[in-house]
Amino acid sequence: MIPNTNYKNLKDSYLFYNIAQKTKAYLEEHPDKKLLRMGIGDVSLPLCDAVIKALHEAVDDQSTKEKFHGYMPECGDPALRQTIADYYKKRGVELTSEETFVSGGASDELGDILDLFGKGKTVMIMEPAYPAYVDANIMSGNQVVHVSSGEENGFLPVPGTATGIDVIYICSPNNPTGATFDKEKLKLWVDYAIKNSSVIIFDAAYEAFIEEADIPHSIYEVEGAKKCAIEISSLSKTAGFTGTRCGYTVIPKELEMDGMNLNEMWVRNRTTKTNGVSYIIQKGAAAVFTEEGQRQIKENIAVYKNNAKCLMETFDKLGIWYTGGKNAPYIWIKCPNNMGSWEFFDLLLNEIQVVGTPGEGFGKCGEGYFRFSTFGSVEDTKEAAKRLYELLK
Ligand code: PLP
Repeated sequence: MIPNTNYKNLKDSYLFYNIAQKTKAYLEEHPDKKLLRMGIGDVSLPLCDAVIKALHEAVDDQSTKEKFHGYMPECGDPALRQTIADYYKKRGVELTSEETFVSGGASDELGDILDLFGKGKTVMIMEPAYPAYVDANIMSGNQVVHVSSGEENGFLPVPGTATGIDVIYICSPNNPTGATFDKEKLKLWVDYAIKNSSVIIFDAAYEAFIEEADIPHSIYEVEGAKKCAIEISSLSKTAGFTGTRCGYTVIPKELEMDGMNLNEMWVRNRTTKTNGVSYIIQKGAAAVFTEEGQRQIKENIAVYKNNAKCLMETFDKLGIWYTGGKNAPYIWIKCPNNMGSWEFFDLLLNEIQVVGTPGEGFGKCGEGYFRFSTFGSVEDTKEAAKRLYELLK
């Protein structure tokens, strides 16, 4: 038996391993010190009351013969699918419930969706990037074309003249840079995809953090996108579902390639490869979209946004260049004094016990940059901002 040899092409990811090793070694040498962890991509606030209430009720439903639910429809509870379509409608995006799919989270979908394209495809990934895009494609035997971005374009690359690209990943608001595409810049990619018969996979995991009115929450706010884009979203950061697991994916019925309908193909895929998201979790997810749920999740997001504000004010005072923070839970700074990412990491760890994420770990063009997350506690963020100021002023 020969296993999938594409796995041999995966590069070891040292990013989070190295961070863990370095922080462990530091704490062993300095057991009295407390680290301020500003690198985490996980949320720190609990689920909101509306979701908890719905989850409890759904658990109780499962204890009675009348309300018990067994297998759920593979593509999601029709009521929740409609709720998600209604959520899009608020942004002026018209979708039918059949164009939305309930998922177990964005990570699962980002990998699984590759089934629609078959093997040996050419995939464009804009860097710095969320590491899972590259690895999922390498496992599938796809060829990855890396597109660099940098300060000169605000980490928002524009399409070039490359041809033969089957799939394009776009993440906005971006992890790790926090940069966001406006409609004009996104339209360039939609036009490029249509011209080249490419499919865009639009990762909208951080859409709920957008506060500026002209930044699209969904790629379908851009004309033509229904003909070329799949959107993958998640309740992980929107509503604290990182451990509860639920997300949603949109595949418009207009999305056809070479006479094949990708929405129909995904229905076939899901009905073959999953038995859907659990009844209990879907009930919790539905509560996110209620009036009360929306109000409560926005209160939590406001806490992270205040953390962002605190850090942005500090970097402004220090005259440090950054993207993100405003419409995203990440702030991506240029390391001061032309320091390398890991050099800056070591400095912060050793001098002020602040742990962030070196930009180099998200692709070569991330070297010299550094990611701060705003998902930590208010107290830690304030203290980290104070220490950063004292160290770098
Ligand atoms: N997409 C991006 C850009 C992310 O940063 C993350 C998680 O950090 C995910 C997807 C995964 O989200 P989920 O928890 O829904 O799997």
